[in-house]
Amino acid sequence: MKDQPSPVLYDTNGLCLEEIVAPLLAWYRQSARILPWRENTAPYRVWVSEIMLQQTRVDTVIPYYERFMARLPSVQALAEVREEELLKLWEGLGYYSRARNLQKAARCICKESGGAFPGSYEQLCSLPGVGPYTAGAIASIAFGLPVPAVDGNVLRVLSRLTENPRDIAEPAVKKQMTAALAQVYPAGHCGDFTQSLMELGAVVCVPNGLPKCGSCPLRQLCRAFRHGTQTEYPVQTKKQPRRAEQKTVLLLCCGGRAAVRKRPQGGLLGGLWEFPCLDGALSAAEIAAWLEQQGAHAAHIERALSRKHIFTHVEWDMTAYRVSCPHAFQPDGGGLVWATPEQLADEIALPTAFRRFTRALGLPSPQAPEGQKIP
Ligand code: SF4
Repeated sequence: MKDQPSPVLYDTNGLCLEEIVAPLLAWYRQSARILPWRENTAPYRVWVSEIMLQQTRVDTVIPYYERFMARLPSVQALAEVREEELLKLWEGLGYYSRARNLQKAARCICKESGGAFPGSYEQLCSLPGVGPYTAGAIASIAFGLPVPAVDGNVLRVLSRLTENPRDIAEPAVKKQMTAALAQVYPAGHCGDFTQSLMELGAVVCVPNGLPKCGSCPLRQLCRAFRHGTQTEYPVQTKKQPRRAEQKTVLLLCCGGRAAVRKRPQGGLLGGLWEFPCLDGALSAAEIAAWLEQQGAHAAHIERALSRKHIFTHVEWDMTAYRVSCPHAFQPDGGGLVWATPEQLADEIALPTAFRRFTRALGLPSPQAPEGQKIP
């Protein structure tokens, strides 16, 4: 007698997940976007692409990915590159801990297996910065293992397909969906199946508004499409509003150079370069008083521009002041680097939150005389 399928393959509306496999694979093979990390699915390339794609749009990632692969084509090259250069390659992508964890993991791989990429899901999960989603993506796409990679896109697709009434933020929901998917992974096509689910969530079953059900290979199976309830799924609890913080950015200029410093380790943008940034919305008089405390004077302080920068849980209302300094001063304890425009352009990895103020410095184009050596 044929074994009864496990109940986990079925949702409350009676959809057997196995039914989605064939139409999804056929659609993917016909419609998948051509992306640089799909041309060659070596583990290193898949890994770097998955880390870059976290919280970041495909269009944004492509030029970064190509530049990264050209400069660091192997685990060994990544393990050996100077952190400053690595962060410069990452400049503008945000979430810089991703880059640091990539390097930590590359060093582990080189130390423990001479650069050979670990091939099991458990070993992948033990690498710094690699969680269940990334490990599932590498295991299935690069190694052909039947391991799902379930992120927000996949949760959204499955929630709509099954009209799942549970909140996808609940870990138990993700666990249940992952277990259900694992049972229907098609032998020999695991990588394509993972990518087909990701692709469907990215280009057809999109968030924020109506999905493109007319182009969906699963519409005959989809409960939300059948009942016109697509926008009611996935069920999600309301996110906490972001905390707003005011910041004053000092564009300290002296003799064609600008002052930058490293942010404290830990916390937001920890250990990255910044234009000196103070808490609160300071007036020109308060900035002058702060400079006095640092043993410095300003020849001129003028308000340059204001910008908002949004992080995951906080947003900064940033106001920048251009400050002309007669001397390239150092506060007690040092920490300021007076950089030339060339160093700002080529060597210093300034996160986007600060990079956007570079033009307001009013410095000449890069070609200035040599400045202080960047530590
Ligand atoms: Fe998503 Fe529509 Fe496809 Fe259902 S039919 S999976 S809602 S795109």
